[in-house]
Amino acid sequence: MTTETAPAPETSAPETHAFEADVARLLHMMVHSVYSDKTVFLRELVSNAADACEKLRYEALSAPDLLGDETRLAIAITLDPEARTLTIEDNGIGMTADDMGEALGTIARSGTKAFMDRIAASSGSDGAQLIGQFGVGFYSAFMVASKVDVISRRAGADTASLWSSDGLGTYTIADVAAGDAPARGTRVVLHLLEDATTYTDRFTVERLIKDQSGHVPVPITLREKPD
Ligand code: ADP
Ligand code: MG
Repeated sequence: MTTETAPAPETSAPETHAFEADVARLLHMMVHSVYSDKTVFLRELVSNAADACEKLRYEALSAPDLLGDETRLAIAITLDPEARTLTIEDNGIGMTADDMGEALGTIARSGTKAFMDRIAASSGSDGAQLIGQFGVGFYSAFMVASKVDVISRRAGADTASLWSSDGLGTYTIADVAAGDAPARGTRVVLHLLEDATTYTDRFTVERLIKDQSGHVPVPITLREKPD
């Protein structure tokens, strides 16, 4: 598995979509919640990568071809201080363009939905403290990133797609050339905010992984560019 972040991938003309109103609200809250623990973003993205590997393992029980010759499921994190990016890649189940629009544009999913219900119930409190307590999921990436690119290929699919957003109300989805995408699975590229450069530091990230994701049942490798 390789994790290359630059140059920007070739795509078809991107289609722009608006986030569901609740997502826009959640994103706004996250970006402006100065007091919440931003480090949870890594836990959430690692947990999604591990979930994707578990889903593939499960689907492969009845469809072994999905695993192909890449049977070692793994998560790779790449830090690039020069480009100011943190990239997390898995070779799990992956997403089609339709999956992405559903999973990364709405609030239908369990963790985030529970969080929003709790906020609604907590009469007026801004929810900053709740962010750390709940699995707020993928959207927490926007606490540390000004732009997030998700390049994904569903297991067994020939085509791959790029989801991209600055978290400000809209996202785009485009087809991406096969050579610019993982052979299978998902690559999430965080273009880090100026005040989040600490997440390109190997020791910081290594410690976070140990503290937050020690129990994850998929091997995680970490490397810094250039290596
Ligand atoms: P949750 O994990 O609670 O479902 P998230 O906000 O963390 O909520 O993720 C939303 C959805 O996006 C996931 O349920 C999954 O369908 C999809 N997703 C996120 N990351 C990945 C990934 N690395 N591989 C495949 N699907 C993913
Ligand atoms: Mg999740």
